[in-house]
Amino acid sequence: MLSCNKSRQDSCLCGSGEAYHHCCFPFHNGDSYPETAEQLMRSRYVAYAKQLAPYLLQTWCLENRPDSIEFDQNIIWTKLTIQSKKKGRKKDRDGWVTFTATYQVNPLEFKTLVLKEKSIFSRDKNKHWCYVSGTFL
Ligand SMILES: [Zn+2]
Repeated sequence: MLSCNKSRQDSCLCGSGEAYHHCCFPFHNGDSYPETAEQLMRSRYVAYAKQLAPYLLQTWCLENRPDSIEFDQNIIWTKLTIQSKKKGRKKDRDGWVTFTATYQVNPLEFKTLVLKEKSIFSRDKNKHWCYVSGTFL
């Protein structure tokens, strides 16, 4: 069981503008499942920021799922911006999202870096969205 720390008004790290409690938390906590590929993308970004390995593994399509995830403790994820998306809607079986994620390595340097990626999503056997793979842009 995850805790939703601090106030319930904490805005979600995915940048939706919603409170975490009403945004990605229910997905992380297993209360509900993302309805779109973009929602899964956002919730996985937040899971990286919060180092929620179980959620990242669960939402990784079984065929490509790694055994474990190592987090780089020097990385702080600071911002997610969705650039474009194709399909990935409620009625779709697959889709992709391109995004930029900004992060800092070694906070003492205060240097902001940018990761651009195209992530591909599909449905698992339970029809839930899962992450297939990503390519750096
Ligand atoms: Zn969110």
